Amino acid sequence: MIHIQGLNKSFGSLQVLNDLTLKIPEGQATGIVGPNGSGKTTLIKHLLGLVKPDEGSIEINDIRLNGTYAYRKDIGYMPQMAQYPENMKVRELIDFIIKIRGEEPVFEKELIELFELEKEMNKALRTLSGGTKQKVGGLIALMFDPSILILDEPTAGLDPKSSFRFKQWIKREKDRGKTILLTTHIMSEIEELADYLVLLVEGRVRYHGKQSEFISDNEEQRLEGAVAKIL
Ligand code: ADP
Repeated sequence: MIHIQGLNKSFGSLQVLNDLTLKIPEGQATGIVGPNGSGKTTLIKHLLGLVKPDEGSIEINDIRLNGTYAYRKDIGYMPQMAQYPENMKVRELIDFIIKIRGEEPVFEKELIELFELEKEMNKALRTLSGGTKQKVGGLIALMFDPSILILDEPTAGLDPKSSFRFKQWIKREKDRGKTILLTTHIMSEIEELADYLVLLVEGRVRYHGKQSEFISDNEEQRLEGAVAKIL
């Protein structure tokens, strides 16, 4: 369970998170939807301990994060646009991460296959396309089989085949009891993957509940229509 209480965060005069309170249930998938700039990535960075809140608290599985950088082995984070050492080869980066982690990955081979990264492993990161870098980000996020997955627009740069296969993987992880938090602008992806929906508007929670109830409460057939009524 991720428990966020009264979170406030400003950058200069811009208040990005506004008294944000949220409970993310364990073993379920929660989709966060909101306009650009509504604070989704900032919220995720707080969960990773990469950003310190001005006010409020965050607890993950009863451990309180105090906003200091905490390397949490149980979170797999797939960033929207990962920044990697440009001159490193993919293989070198993966080996480096395995070394600092000090344990063998669980799903390295399967994920290299899933993302068809076999031929990319000996290439320098600077030579890769944005989509391929994103696949490397997916490999890094998932290879140690973490119990919490935080995925920031996970399929945005992926080709259709990789996107399909990756969504199948996420569904399987959900069935294996992982807590999943994902942001996306693709509403069908939320319909497909998420049990719960969070609507974030100007750093405030506008809705939090079962996505199926949100659709029916708004008398729509599809999530896209229901969300469009609110945002
Ligand atoms: P979203 O992910 O929903 O698009 P973000 O959390 O990335 O939104 O950003 C929310 C707002 O906070 C944006 O206006 C963005 O420009 C601003 N912002 C984010 N990080 C910083 C930062 N480190 N310094 C200043 N402004 C920031």
